[in-house]
Amino acid sequence: MEFIREYADWFYLIGAVLFILTLRGLSGPKTAIAGNRYGMIAMAIAVVTTFFVAENPVVWMILAAMAAGAVVGIARARTVPMTQMPETVALMHSLVGLAAVLIAVAAIIHNNKLVELGPDLLAANGVTFHEMSKVHLFELFVGCFVGAITFTASVFAYGKLAAKKWAKTISGGWVKPVQALIFIAMLAAGIHFFLTGSMTSFWAMTGLALAFGWVWIAPVGGGDMPVVVSLLNSFSGWAAAGIGFTLENNMLIVAGSLVGSSGAILSYIMCKAMNRSIINVLFGGAMGGAAAPTVAAGAQVQRNYRSGSADDAGFLMSNADSVVIVPGYGMAQGRAQNAVKELANLLKEQGVTVRFAIHPVAGRMPGHMNVLLAEADVPYEDILEMDEINSDFPATDVVLVIGANDVVNPAAKDDPNSPIYGMPILEAHKARTIMVIKRSMATGYAGLDNDLFYNDKTMMIFGDAKKVVEDMTKAINGTGH
Ligand code: NDP
Repeated sequence: MEFIREYADWFYLIGAVLFILTLRGLSGPKTAIAGNRYGMIAMAIAVVTTFFVAENPVVWMILAAMAAGAVVGIARARTVPMTQMPETVALMHSLVGLAAVLIAVAAIIHNNKLVELGPDLLAANGVTFHEMSKVHLFELFVGCFVGAITFTASVFAYGKLAAKKWAKTISGGWVKPVQALIFIAMLAAGIHFFLTGSMTSFWAMTGLALAFGWVWIAPVGGGDMPVVVSLLNSFSGWAAAGIGFTLENNMLIVAGSLVGSSGAILSYIMCKAMNRSIINVLFGGAMGGAAAPTVAAGAQVQRNYRSGSADDAGFLMSNADSVVIVPGYGMAQGRAQNAVKELANLLKEQGVTVRFAIHPVAGRMPGHMNVLLAEADVPYEDILEMDEINSDFPATDVVLVIGANDVVNPAAKDDPNSPIYGMPILEAHKARTIMVIKRSMATGYAGLDNDLFYNDKTMMIFGDAKKVVEDMTKAINGTGH
């Protein structure tokens, strides 16, 4: 054990390198499993090393907390359905935020206890005591308020994504002033605590930060929650890094910074792919407007479109050379991924080249489609990102759009007045034939009509994604009638 204590920094360094390899591994589906393993080893190194470097650890308490965490974690990991992943992630971030607050509170109470005992008594018991420096107070201040905001904001995000009744979206002219007021009061209390060390100010700051987390996220629309979750992921990292300074734990500083920066980069990428600014996502709702643009009342005009049956579509696809499948939120909603995989396999058996085209924000969370297709065991080499496949659409016989809407809306390229103008899209409209599975002519997340559905080359196939895809498979198999 002395060995671990002596070489603790080396172990932390190895752990930090493994965490970097984890992020690298998680950037692609083929390397993701290895990435996960690196992460598990790094975390084990971090936990074991910290366990041995801690001064006077209360062993039973640590073991009990670890056991409780392991039981809940394993149970949740085994039972959580893929569709509930976003809210599970949000809930996990809330725990990081709560841990940051509890550690800050413990550090301050501990320090105050030592001050109360007095230097003489401490010296007599062999305890060396250092006054908390201003830097230390600043770390606590930042770690605690970022943690508190992360905690309540993540709990709200969880409630919103899990459609809980208590997570109600708030709106109205009063929201912004209230947000500003709470934020300023929180900063004032924090600064007072920093300058004077007053415990009253510390508690006030923590309470106000908890309240701010809630009123800050409550106006954000449900569909924007994934961006918020990714941002909270970043926050939880920064809170952990702040607490790492408090605990003088290098590993926590490095791991927290990695989480903080990767979460910030992901939020940026998502906003760019949605053609929105982070300010618009976070404060769009509070500014009195809808988080997502909607079609102006009365702007809907009757337009003609062509609809067909699953049988027609199955026949056309089985006679094509190449089919590109574009999945969207509707595939996730209809839990159609396994049926889609069967259809793809059947077409391949008939000599058709089948590939999947993934838009970075298809669905409702980053990598949503990749996760679902991986769950259905679709081979990775058949799954192509937007930039890889866009140039292939003009030479594609059939594009099958399954429950996708905004990510294939040509207005993003052609109509400078469209709210999504500039958003990168999958250029499905360039294919020779387009088939779209959805339940109605209703709009998607952005609330916009889609010219693709009225294109001369497009056939709409109405129905629930899973049912329609199964019917297509039956038709190709010749068992449909
Ligand atoms: P959209 O929300 O634009 O469209 C989904 C379509 O699926 C709807 O038009 C709906 O039409 C159809 N649908 C829903 N349920 C079913 C079902 N059971 N069977 C068949 N069809 C169904 O989804 P996209 O994936 O195209 O685009 C994602 C949108 O979400 C983008 O605007 C993106 O910016 C936004 N977003 C994405 C995030 C991410 O991280 N991925 C985060 C936040 C927002 P109908 O009702 O007629 O069936």
